[in-house]
Amino acid sequence: MLLTLTTTHRPATDLGHLLVKHPDRVQTFDLPAGAAHVFYPEADEARCTAALLVEVDPLKLGGGGRRNRAPEGFALGQYVNDRPYAASSLLSSALSKVFRSALRGESRDRPELAASAIPLTVRVPVLRCRGGAELAVRIFAPLGWTVTATPIPLDETYPEWGDSRYVDLTLTGTLRLADALNHLYVLLPVLDDAKHYWVAPDEVDKLLRAGAGWLAGHPERGLITRRYLAHRRALAGEAMARLTELRLADEPPADDSIEPSTGEPAESSGGGAGTAEDVRRASLAVRRREAVLAALRDSGASRVLDLGCGGGALLTALVADRRFTEVVGVDVSDRSLGLAARRLRLDRLPERQRDRIRLWQSALTYRDDRLRGYDAAVLMEVVEHLDPPRLPALEDAVFGHARPGTVVVTTPNVEYNVRYEGLVPGRFRHADHRFEWTRAEFAAWVDRVAAAYGYTAVLGGVGDDDPEVGTPTQMAVLTRAESTGRRDRADRSDSNDRKEATNR
Ligand code: SAH
Repeated sequence: MLLTLTTTHRPATDLGHLLVKHPDRVQTFDLPAGAAHVFYPEADEARCTAALLVEVDPLKLGGGGRRNRAPEGFALGQYVNDRPYAASSLLSSALSKVFRSALRGESRDRPELAASAIPLTVRVPVLRCRGGAELAVRIFAPLGWTVTATPIPLDETYPEWGDSRYVDLTLTGTLRLADALNHLYVLLPVLDDAKHYWVAPDEVDKLLRAGAGWLAGHPERGLITRRYLAHRRALAGEAMARLTELRLADEPPADDSIEPSTGEPAESSGGGAGTAEDVRRASLAVRRREAVLAALRDSGASRVLDLGCGGGALLTALVADRRFTEVVGVDVSDRSLGLAARRLRLDRLPERQRDRIRLWQSALTYRDDRLRGYDAAVLMEVVEHLDPPRLPALEDAVFGHARPGTVVVTTPNVEYNVRYEGLVPGRFRHADHRFEWTRAEFAAWVDRVAAAYGYTAVLGGVGDDDPEVGTPTQMAVLTRAESTGRRDRADRSDSNDRKEATNR
């Protein structure tokens, strides 16, 4: 089994850095079912080709490593098999073993290049392809590849015998190397459609990891998922459900309007994407995020906590601003943290960036020592998700124990709900909201917490300021009284301006 990877990016020999395989050497790696060799048929400034050659040892394939063991009753099949048939998934395992860091998009020597799209040509001269050349096109073309898949005749001497099950595949495109490798890692076995090893439940995680950023939106994701998981229906079902979540999370402006809650009534969207109401909701989410960011910048914070970070919409914005040297997302929901990791592309970020980010699972109603000592914390659209009797526990954990210098809180203004057409009177904006406060109720809560824990508070709002019912979102910035942030006391006299500034 042979796969070659060519780039004409200059200097092309940088490919060696990205793959962490020196162009001058032939390197051999042991595989559970044989051996993989990496070498460079050509390597100069203008053009560089790396080749991965996998040799299958049928004995090892049968009796060998843990991963190759087939279900019982298949003993003979392990030895007597169509060798190339097995090879696609072996080639894929070899890719992941031999080019591990490149698959993750990591590169010690060329991090910027690893993150950039470069001209690439991939060739697999003999690929078993169930569904023929046409399927290869359907699978690779949506990912930005130009696909040439030529069926290989069964026997060149007897063309009338027709085509074999193999194609000669060439892909060309301008992509990040990591994306290209992940496409191959998932899709070669999919085209082959005959996994050589027993599919374990953790294959779903592997598929979603390798498919991050491209599988959820792929028009053939159903077929890809079924085949990758060797037609194990329960696993494919799980994978599809998770992909659907990811896809929703990706759709603009769903941004944060699909999160467990955004403070806007899902009920009011009516006509689907693109209605005026949708635009209004999306723009409120953006304005809220901007207002929170402005308050954080204003506070001079560099190490910040996003408490109840949900799918990570704010985290992404925080990470984009270099003044925030440490950004921590905290949520009780593992699913939300997973979405956040994906949205941040954590697994693809250069180490330097990733080191600024932490995602912690934690319940905000319990003291957590990890949260102490930060400059600022955000509670954006979170408090209303707690049962009122649990609120004091959050107050103690956040204001009493973690004690950040600044706390920015946002929450819906229930008075504004009458302005949402389609929101049934008396209903909250989101099914998971346990309460929604009037302006007076929010102000009373803020005052009480500030007094109890030694903070001073400035109230504000986000969104259009309705003369009768106020802004759709309420916001408070609480500053620890003894805080020695960059803002000194004199500076705080402009707090009314700040209120104005967030009242946009
Ligand atoms: N801040 C985000 C998400 C708001 S949704 C945004 O504005 O887009 C509320 C989030 O709070 C959810 O992700 C939910 O999982 C989280 N949450 C609710 N109760 C929590 C608790 N007790 N501890 C930690 N997180 C909690």
